[in-house]
Amino acid sequence: MEKTLSVVVSCYNEELALDQFYKETASILKSLDWDYELIFVNDGSQDNTMEVLTQLSEGDEKVKVISFSRNFGHEAAMIAGLDYSKGDGIVCMDADLQHPPEYLPEIVKKLTEGYDVINMVRTKNESAGWFKNLASSAFYHLINVLSDVKFEPNASDFFAISKKAGKVLKDNYREKVRFLRGYVQNIGFRKTTIEYEARVRVAGESKYSIKKLIAFSLNTIMCFSNLPLKLGIYAGCGAGVLGLVMMIYTIWSWARVGTPNGYATTIVLICFMFAVLFLIVGVIGNYIAILFAELKDRPIYIVGETKNVEE
Ligand code: UDP
Ligand code: MG
Repeated sequence: MEKTLSVVVSCYNEELALDQFYKETASILKSLDWDYELIFVNDGSQDNTMEVLTQLSEGDEKVKVISFSRNFGHEAAMIAGLDYSKGDGIVCMDADLQHPPEYLPEIVKKLTEGYDVINMVRTKNESAGWFKNLASSAFYHLINVLSDVKFEPNASDFFAISKKAGKVLKDNYREKVRFLRGYVQNIGFRKTTIEYEARVRVAGESKYSIKKLIAFSLNTIMCFSNLPLKLGIYAGCGAGVLGLVMMIYTIWSWARVGTPNGYATTIVLICFMFAVLFLIVGVIGNYIAILFAELKDRPIYIVGETKNVEE
């Protein structure tokens, strides 16, 4: 029996990119030995993304559309795509053609060979700019130091998984504060990588601001490591040693010079101590926020309407 490839594409305000994305991707998908379904997830776009997607779905029954009731974020869009996928292999990719569809034949080849996880590793990212590239590599270094999970540096939201791996992700990785790329690294199975050169965004602009990226990185580190929670223990020990040294020094200088030690030292110490203290409280606060989101158990996404999808 012919196998099917599910391609999951998350779209947030991508009206300008979608026609070209569809044209390039569909023509490559049609040339494959596998059948395909193209699942577009409209993540609450405010532009004409839904109109463009509706048009595409009317012209091609293999185009399926899941439209959210509002913007839930890229991570929610990807898991929704997985939830609706029926294929023997699943590929996640962006709508802006930064993830080049010409790698799809190679991906299908790896899936046919029996790999369950295919990490697409970026060798070049022309459009990101030096700051984003530096921040991204710093993030991967940090998370690899802090977490037991081994992250593929320069991994992206361009990856492919087998039906078996997809089922594990759908059934068991339903965390509210999410990082699908990390779960993909976490599930084991037969893994391989394919290197690719990221293209420049075909149209429109990036939806990830620096502020969003920082918040996202912090949450991800905390979801994959408990070490920041233990910061308090190390900081406490450090402060204790510092306090002891200061005490000995104060007694010594008081014995020698006879005057108690200065105002400046006090201020510096207070500032330093409070900085450490607030940092630790902030870290604990963020863990509580993650726990709270989990406890409330609100849906990861809400579907408003669908096209070409039988419920
Ligand atoms: N995206 C989404 N929901 C969001 C933000 C982004 O579905 O809230 C989609 C976006 O349409 C694109 C992909 O996620 O297909 C990656 O976003 P973008 O290209 O803006 O990020 P960058 O490539 O600049 O990191
Ligand atoms: Mg992009």
